[in-house]
Amino acid sequence: MQSRNPETMVLHAGPRTDGGSGAVVVPIFQTTAYEFKNTEHAANLFALKDFGNIYSRIMNPTCDALEQKMTTLEGGVAALAVSSGQAATALSIQNLCRPGDNIVSSTDLYGGSWNLFANTLPSLGITVRFADPADPESFRAATDERTRAYYAETLPNPKLTVFPIGEVAKIGRDLGVPLIMDNTAAPIICRPFDHGAAVVVHSTTKYIGGHGTSIGGIIIDGGNFDWSAQHGRFPTLNEPDPSYHGAVWTEAVKPLGPIAYIIRARVVLLRDLGSSLSPFNAFQFIQGLETLPLRMREHCRNAAQVASYLQQHSAVARVIYPGLHEDAVQANRANTYLRGGHGGLVGFELSDGSAAGARFIDALKLFYHVANIGDVRSLAIHPASTTHSQLRLADQLSSGVTPGYVRLSVGIEHIDDIISDLDQALAAATRPMATAA
Ligand code: PLP
Repeated sequence: MQSRNPETMVLHAGPRTDGGSGAVVVPIFQTTAYEFKNTEHAANLFALKDFGNIYSRIMNPTCDALEQKMTTLEGGVAALAVSSGQAATALSIQNLCRPGDNIVSSTDLYGGSWNLFANTLPSLGITVRFADPADPESFRAATDERTRAYYAETLPNPKLTVFPIGEVAKIGRDLGVPLIMDNTAAPIICRPFDHGAAVVVHSTTKYIGGHGTSIGGIIIDGGNFDWSAQHGRFPTLNEPDPSYHGAVWTEAVKPLGPIAYIIRARVVLLRDLGSSLSPFNAFQFIQGLETLPLRMREHCRNAAQVASYLQQHSAVARVIYPGLHEDAVQANRANTYLRGGHGGLVGFELSDGSAAGARFIDALKLFYHVANIGDVRSLAIHPASTTHSQLRLADQLSSGVTPGYVRLSVGIEHIDDIISDLDQALAAATRPMATAA
């Protein structure tokens, strides 16, 4: 079933029914191994002459159905489901880098990615150079012959400034460097491959699952990057792989299509590092995907109304929302890269600073106070007293976290109830404190 419409894709991409049972809903294939027909069949599977199931660390039919749906939704050629969003980010880079190599990353990142890039990857010999997304040319300036990828998030919080995907992808393509986009905060409303990205990663834990039940991640290969054109830049894909009988991935899988990158991630990295997704979690993500387009519409609609409400509130100094950017460049990027809404995340600053931020959070009744985004329920956090509390004030400010900053992940409850909860919590946050007698 071919369709350009996400509502149809999420339901009909991938297997229509289970071949064995005719089940309409993808079953949970809770199995570790798969029986081979005979020794020749087993040998062919291991040699990648035939494609089929061997062992659930590297492939599983439930995970495969999720991979097919996500590939179609993002417009790529193949995907690899993994155990978390963090695993997706780490593997997407490790698939290209060896010690001594580097990547260039946007400074505007989820904290977990920041730690991975600032500490763990360097400890493995992979350097990360940080570039300012406000100036796409800073990516070019940071590139050298050992640069293996660019990395960025479509809609990073807390700043919520849309990344210049097309501009940086073009610089990368001029220099032979692929752009990896973390599209976790903007599924459906942004398709990074349409703007030149080469690889997309998601934390499926967030909007894709949508119900706050499971941790998972996925890497999607756009199939649009010529890894062999710059032979020396991508040795992991162009040089014989001693762990796989000397296979050269760009040659070995050529007859199957432009899938060298994602096949290597599966048969080498997942085989060796083992961050596999459980089929049960894959099932949960498939259930989530089926309503993702509907939920994103509601998240976007509710978030836009929350942003306008906050803009008019006297206790709010500033609202941070991609649909409200006053800066012309930012507004233009939001319009270029986001379609059908500006996402479900809204930031705002309370005029009375950190204490008011904490009072606001403590007064919420409907919003959950959690370090998460993308749930059907509305969520809130005060970064200065939680996620960013270990940072010095200067570092908090440079990451966009002011003392009174509050981040909302607006859910799909009725908008009247969402606003009513914000209203009473803002009143509590700004009420004069009783003075001790
Ligand atoms: N990318 C983004 C934008 C995130 O917000 C997160 C988690 O909050 C991750 C990646 C990591 O995902 P996970 O928690 O599934 O490992």
